[in-house]
Amino acid sequence: MWYDEHKRDLPWRGEIDPYKIWLSEVILQQTRVNQGWDYYLKIVQQFPTVKDLASAQLEEVLYLWQGLGYYSRARNLHTAAQQIMSRHGGVFPTNYDEVIQLKGIGEYTAAAICSIAYNQPYLAIDGNVFRVICRIFGILEDIQLRSTKNRVHEIGTRLMKEVEPALFTQAMMEFGAIHCVPKNPDCEACPFQRECYAYQEEQVSRLPLKINKIKIKNRYFHYFIFSHNDQIVIEKRENNDIWSHLYQFPLFETKGRSSKGMLQWLAQYGVEDKKQVKLIETCEHKLTHQNLHISFYDVELVPKQLSSNQLLVSIEELTQKPFPVPIQRFIKSQILNQL
Ligand code: SF4
Repeated sequence: MWYDEHKRDLPWRGEIDPYKIWLSEVILQQTRVNQGWDYYLKIVQQFPTVKDLASAQLEEVLYLWQGLGYYSRARNLHTAAQQIMSRHGGVFPTNYDEVIQLKGIGEYTAAAICSIAYNQPYLAIDGNVFRVICRIFGILEDIQLRSTKNRVHEIGTRLMKEVEPALFTQAMMEFGAIHCVPKNPDCEACPFQRECYAYQEEQVSRLPLKINKIKIKNRYFHYFIFSHNDQIVIEKRENNDIWSHLYQFPLFETKGRSSKGMLQWLAQYGVEDKKQVKLIETCEHKLTHQNLHISFYDVELVPKQLSSNQLLVSIEELTQKPFPVPIQRFIKSQILNQL
């Protein structure tokens, strides 16, 4: 069978511990295998059981997660681990309806855990599996439609009846991840070539069909590095926005490229003249639905008063806090490398 011959040797391959399967699935939701690999090993080493994860501080979990992005995944993992402790006595639930009640676990992840860990017949359809089914079975409708999803689900459920659920789930995911890839799949060496609608009808590059493009929002972030001697002001992001619970420098966000209103905003920190502020670096950071235009400014003063989510830290302490990737890069190149 294709899977036996081609499957990759991944750190979670062959794993039947639902906790570790859950962890790997959450990491891989928005992350490539190569990037997620080390994070998985690091997290499993630091928190080998649900209990270890549940009793950690959220900040420790976010610190390990730094650089992986989509930080709500880490926050949800932490909350769900605590739910497993309080609702299930620390034992990962075996029932799909209980698994899906855990924070951050949706239909896909619950099905992946139940089918891989417990060999239960729940169909896990990630983007890879979706693509394979759409191509082989010639699904010509927009993948964003509920009716298309239902159709793919029906086909998957039918196929799953013929194979063991744990094997089916992993084989389908792996086939989509390494063989029937989005661009230029190796159809000539594919075992499904003869049955594959997309190949037979020369529709491989067109399927799966995605009609609407997602609108990308531009945002303009101005970060101010208030520093004096070894002390720097940072603040915790607390709202429902991206990077919630991570740290950043005091932020002024504008609607466009213009920095209108900035001096007025800076006045609350004791800045009286724009000469006190120096632009150090600009960069762009792309997220799935947002393009961030980021500027970093140096301000050589420490404000007399800080707000409740702000704190004054030493450079040493700065390196112990979790930051989003563009700020981490800035700290490394402009602060740590300048010491
Ligand atoms: S023939 Fe090509 S498109 Fe069809 S399943 Fe195989 S790799 Fe995918």
